[in-house]
Amino acid sequence: MGAESWIQIVYVLSALCFILALNWLSAVPTARRGVLTGVLGMALAVGGTLLNPGIVSYTWIAVAFVIGSVIGVPMAMMPMTAVPQRTALSHAFGALAAALVGTAEYFLRAGGAEMDRFTMGALAVEVILGFLTFTASLMAFGKLQEILPQRPITYRGQNLVNLGMPAAAVALAVWLVIHPGSHGLFLLMCGLALGFGVLLIVPIGGADMPTVISLLNAYAGLSAAAMGFVLNNKLLIIAGSLDGSSGLILSIIMCKAMNRSFSNVLFGAFGQVTAAVAAGEQKSYRSASAEEAASILLNASSVMVVPGYGMAAAQAQHKVRELYDQLTRQGVNVKFAIHPVAGRMPGHMNVLLAEANIPYDALLDLEEANSELPQCDVALVIGANDVTNPAARHDKGSPIYGMPIIDTDKARTVMVIKRSMNPGFAGVDNELYTLDRTLMLFGDAKAFVADLIKEVDAQSGGRG
Ligand code: NDP
Repeated sequence: MGAESWIQIVYVLSALCFILALNWLSAVPTARRGVLTGVLGMALAVGGTLLNPGIVSYTWIAVAFVIGSVIGVPMAMMPMTAVPQRTALSHAFGALAAALVGTAEYFLRAGGAEMDRFTMGALAVEVILGFLTFTASLMAFGKLQEILPQRPITYRGQNLVNLGMPAAAVALAVWLVIHPGSHGLFLLMCGLALGFGVLLIVPIGGADMPTVISLLNAYAGLSAAAMGFVLNNKLLIIAGSLDGSSGLILSIIMCKAMNRSFSNVLFGAFGQVTAAVAAGEQKSYRSASAEEAASILLNASSVMVVPGYGMAAAQAQHKVRELYDQLTRQGVNVKFAIHPVAGRMPGHMNVLLAEANIPYDALLDLEEANSELPQCDVALVIGANDVTNPAARHDKGSPIYGMPIIDTDKARTVMVIKRSMNPGFAGVDNELYTLDRTLMLFGDAKAFVADLIKEVDAQSGGRG
């Protein structure tokens, strides 16, 4: 059997791994297996490609491998709260690679003049999506990392420019399909795509950026799939399509969970409304000490923990696990309510709680949690804010109006651990904090939960 047959066999195995990985990643108990299978699939894909007899220089591949690892390893060490911006950078590099391969293919194949129409069409899709995803992802990274201003920037005629530029790039692509040899127009098309990537992100506020990143993930995937057609590489077509479709599905899930439409995300200028609402007047609230809170928890028969971004920022998940164990030993029924967009990436809370070995069956999704909350004695909110704000249910003026929330306010007593009365990601005040049944527990999530553990222990006579 020749090298080509071996390569195809390895590619089929790799594609199988990617499909299984996605399937296993969709459920918490099998997620770890999903990650490992995805890694195996990628290793097979790279290994299979290295078998290609057409490879001119392994030395240059080794050099690129070393450079990639030097950049990639520190990137992987970023804290989990920075995953959105890290993902944006990965998309930028992936999309740039696809766009550069497309550009090289265009100039290599006799300057493009002999390219058949289908290949030229696929190549145009590859470079347009690749280059626009590259600059858009860098912009998204800059906004999330606060290197660039987070607020949306709008100007007159913006939508016209944002529709005109991609339309002009597509018109050039159509021209190139008919006359592939027009080098200058090819470069103009690349320039338009690069410029459009920047302008696409300018009017989008930081709050919508993770959704946009997921959309850019889809673009990068589609660019890779188009590259598969150009290079006649089936694995790229399969992997790119999986990437493209999963990115799109994820964006739709995130938009639904935040009650935002796609057009709203792309043209909505979300951050501006937010700033106006954040300037509202302060209402009074009640606070409590760890001692009082521990006593309330010990007297409860059911507690719903609602984790959010603050638990992730404080890395409090292991302390939360200790508290869970303590209360469970005292006969309290403790469950966790997981909002789909709690934290800064989809599945953020599931990953953290799984890391702390909290049993999967104690994790409830939004609907399950909301059906149990009215019978709950205590809702213990740990660093969550927007996902618990009752304004989302009734305040039509609120930027989070319509976003499904965890009905924390329906529990008999609500306790909220956070450091201050400051708003969360959407920048709006939370009505939950000023309800009669709510007690604010001020402090860093990890430190406060540690205090709660000590108090529960002391109050249960060391049996906690
Ligand atoms: P929020 O961002 O609304 O609120 C987090 C709260 O945590 C803050 O109010 C902050 O209050 C508190 N906090 C921060 N650090 C600490 C700490 N060390 N200890 C204790 N508390 C802390 O988080 P949610 O999880 O409720 O909501 C997620 C938000 O992110 C939503 O608006 C969602 O739409 C958005 N989003 C989520 C995405 C996802 O995929 N998960 C993607 C895109 C957006 P204080 O400063 O007073 O401590």
